[in-house]
Amino acid sequence: MARILVTNSEGTPGVGETATMLAAGAGGLDAIEAGIRLVEADTSIRTVGKGGWPNLLGEVELDAAIIDGNTFRSGAVGALKGYLHPISVARAVLERLPHEMLVGEGAARFAGEIGAERANNLIPDSERVWRQWFEENVSPADQEKWPDVPLAQLCQQAIDPEKGMDTTVFLSLDGKGEIMAGVSTSGWAWKYPGRLGDSPIIGAGCYADTKYGAAACTGAGEMAIRAGTSRAIVLYMKMGLSLERAVDEAIDDLLRLRGGLIQRITLHSIDRDGRHRVVAVNAQDQLSYWLWREGDGEPHAEPVELVAL
Ligand code: ASP
Repeated sequence: MARILVTNSEGTPGVGETATMLAAGAGGLDAIEAGIRLVEADTSIRTVGKGGWPNLLGEVELDAAIIDGNTFRSGAVGALKGYLHPISVARAVLERLPHEMLVGEGAARFAGEIGAERANNLIPDSERVWRQWFEENVSPADQEKWPDVPLAQLCQQAIDPEKGMDTTVFLSLDGKGEIMAGVSTSGWAWKYPGRLGDSPIIGAGCYADTKYGAAACTGAGEMAIRAGTSRAIVLYMKMGLSLERAVDEAIDDLLRLRGGLIQRITLHSIDRDGRHRVVAVNAQDQLSYWLWREGDGEPHAEPVELVAL
């Protein structure tokens, strides 16, 4: 069975490491975690880990998940503050707890308990841009009372797709023919505190089943939550559809969403035969992703297929 790795352009700092590990026979979970850790630590990737954009209060809240497609054990963390590698905390949830997801204070408590590396994830540039937003958009009266002010209206105004979006997603078929997925993100810039996107929601932001394939989403997480997109793609494959058709069906589900946040969403998928498909719905610009296949040598960039809603 040919090994394969798909990651999005945010995966640039980690794709080489994950591909090298897969080529050397590492299991998918180890290879994915190692690659995502490199993305999380790289401050030039502004939507993942350290350097990610903050929420409305100027705090960086991180989401991550990892899933084992053999056992369907997953580990996820949501709205985690103060730690450098949410993907490793998520992996520890998978390995050490009888739970699948921790959020907020509980996730931070667990991260401390396992000795995870602490970090101030708000880099000076993010703080500067957030402060500018604050000065320009929060009334002087509310600035005085900050943070004890209603945030709902600010959250409606604040969503800025220019800077708001992205996640890193990694999907692998490893040397044992096992399929795994992992994702990590700072979520949407200026999000309401405590908002979880699709990334930590297993079945929305990612899913994997060694018998059929895996999928993961980036972009408007609210859409993937509503349509259960990653699970849907894998389930459509289980119901007998090809990868191509399974993704078409998931796009059809997204087309039926009404109201709420409708924005760009990108669907990444692989199947057990080593095929893959990466499609963006509602994209304004051409996007690319990384593909590595056994025998390819280095990972290479490919253009994302674009579909308009
Ligand atoms: N899907 C992520 C979220 O909604 C963000 C993104 O990938 O653009 O939090």
